[in-house]
Amino acid sequence: MFDPAVFAQAGTVDPAQIMQGLADEDPRVAMMMKLMQSQQAPSTEDKPDERDDLIADLSERLDAAETRLVKMTRVARQLHDANAVAMGRLGRLAAALGACGLCWGDDDLCPGCRGRGGVGMVRPDPVARAALIGRREPPTRQHAATGH
Ligand SMILES: [Zn+2]
Repeated sequence: MFDPAVFAQAGTVDPAQIMQGLADEDPRVAMMMKLMQSQQAPSTEDKPDERDDLIADLSERLDAAETRLVKMTRVARQLHDANAVAMGRLGRLAAALGACGLCWGDDDLCPGCRGRGGVGMVRPDPVARAALIGRREPPTRQHAATGH
């Protein structure tokens, strides 16, 4: 027989344990407990949780953002590489024309020329000039004036 006093004396009064003890003794109590448990815990599988939709939506958006990020990173890398190639070519052209490779004379605060680095600032580099333009010498002032 179930004796609540035993539980109380032991100092372990657990209502669930007491109910289980009653259910073990009386099948009607067991039936009633089953009924109560089924009413207390309605199945969550029947109705979809709104949070699941939100999580799915956020997950899709995260995937799309990651895809865009990968694409943008690739484009940025291509732009960086193209810029490096263009800057190298521009620097060689500046050397071939005797201009400042940093600013071409456009920047008064340029550490290389202080804004005086236009074409002809320094003697053109013959090797760079030959590589970019050919071996032809630049026209002298006399030739330029006569047009020959
Ligand atoms: Zn400069």
